[in-house]
Amino acid sequence: MVLQGKVALVTGSTSGIGLGIARSLAGAGASIMMNGFGDADDIETLRAQLAEEFGVSVAFDGADLSRRDEVSRLVAETIDVLGGVDVLVNNAGIQFVAPIEEFPEDRWEAIIGLNLSAAFYSMKAAIPAMKAKGWGRIINVASAHGLVASANKVAYVAAKHGLVGATKVAALELANQGVTVNAICPGWVLTPLVERQLLDRAEQSGTAVEVEMERLLSEKQPMSKFTTPESIGAMAVFLCSDEAETITGAALSIDGGWTAQ
Ligand code: NAD
Repeated sequence: MVLQGKVALVTGSTSGIGLGIARSLAGAGASIMMNGFGDADDIETLRAQLAEEFGVSVAFDGADLSRRDEVSRLVAETIDVLGGVDVLVNNAGIQFVAPIEEFPEDRWEAIIGLNLSAAFYSMKAAIPAMKAKGWGRIINVASAHGLVASANKVAYVAAKHGLVGATKVAALELANQGVTVNAICPGWVLTPLVERQLLDRAEQSGTAVEVEMERLLSEKQPMSKFTTPESIGAMAVFLCSDEAETITGAALSIDGGWTAQ
């Protein structure tokens, strides 16, 4: 139980990768602050299941992280309710796909706000508590798009490259404070975020979602397989372990070979 007695805040953990990471960290013994949007009853079911299955404290706060004041409030709430913030996982993220000349300005602002600025504000709020304890783990969920680009994803690619940069800066600043800061860079993971892209592609091309699934994978990844939220959760747990204490400032790919090309 690597994380017994520790508290983890996982943003955007009501769905997809964040939920996978929250489950893995709970499995390693951490108390969890869940966050994200969704149906209130569904979220309460997820929260109660997580607490029961792993025997840890699990709280939920629906902070809208596109709002700066809500980000710092969420960190303060985590410390207040669960007694600390030892692990911070910046995972909440959104996507929008269009060429630059048609890209809506409000989508640019929203993606930069959530996928990049929220991580800055949460790190800013959580770092003093980690420094005071002399131990902490910050994990920023970036993307293969934090390392390489794809057409039509200007805001997402810019935000994720920025997140990898911010990760490196934080790692340098905290190198001798017992706090590591890393980015996880997944390739394709079959979550609601990608399912929406698949539905749009199938509608535009007039083909089946299954056909677009194959195409999506083969366009980018040598390996024709989705990465699972469970695998990303296991990577997060490893980054929290003592054995990973000198891994910092890294952008760790888990992408079926996407960025090896
Ligand atoms: P998802 O849509 O399943 O989950 C996103 C989560 O963020 C949800 O819990 C949602 O409620 C929450 N969220 C959205 N807006 C929010 C806001 N304003 N405030 C607080 N929470 C908010 O998506 P996912 O695929 O699990 O994506 C999670 C992260 O992984 C994102 O940062 C995404 O960019 C990244 N990622 C995903 C993939 C992939 O293939 N799915 C690949 C690489 C990186």
